[in-house]
Amino acid sequence: MDARARLLPKPAIEPIWIKFKHEGAGMRILIVEDEPTLGKQLKSTLEHNGYAVDLATDGEEGHFLGSTESYDAVILDLGLPEVDGLTVLDRWRKEGKVTPVLVLTARDSWSDKVAGLDAGADDYLAKPFQTQELIARLRALIRRASGNASSELIAGDVRLDTRSGRVTLAGEPVKMTAQEYKLLSYLIHHKGKVVSRTELIEHIYDQDFDRDSNTIEVFVTRIRKKLGQEVITTIRGLGYSLEEPAA
Ligand code: CA
Repeated sequence: MDARARLLPKPAIEPIWIKFKHEGAGMRILIVEDEPTLGKQLKSTLEHNGYAVDLATDGEEGHFLGSTESYDAVILDLGLPEVDGLTVLDRWRKEGKVTPVLVLTARDSWSDKVAGLDAGADDYLAKPFQTQELIARLRALIRRASGNASSELIAGDVRLDTRSGRVTLAGEPVKMTAQEYKLLSYLIHHKGKVVSRTELIEHIYDQDFDRDSNTIEVFVTRIRKKLGQEVITTIRGLGYSLEEPAA
């Protein structure tokens, strides 16, 4: 290398993004669908996009799961055995459940759509639908429920783009593993609220995860190393918070 070349600035290195399923990272979805093929297909597609997914195949099981477990959104078919979808939705709303619900209606059933929206559905999609549309609507639903109008979520100097899965600190890209991203994503979607460890585990992992492990703390420590100690506040005995809640 000659002397002049040595003085030239180093070429900018393109950051290498770890490929992972960022779309639904940290989000837990309930599907209530009785058509076996469609139900399994939806579950695997959403899981492939990073969501943790539970599948119920009748209205009774669906209602039970939706009442007792905590989900970021529900995909609810209307024509269901045991208890129909509209009744399930109506029960959840009467119980005070505010989880966003996307209703699946029969094609062109205008009355289904109206009835669904009247019963408290947040959005609907007519069958048959494109999976990409379902995922886009789901993403928008979850974002709206957390009060965010844009796909980019901001907390101080930290920005997280839910579409590309990129995280930046003061404009500089930060590499994160899938688990770190999921945890950060959940906290940033619930900015200003205290999130318990149990809630994090429930939303980040599916039912098979070992819930007694201390991994959440390990991830929090790693995120703090990357984004700064102050980014996540530990609320003693309660959990974690991104930004101290207003006193
Ligand atoms: Ca059905």
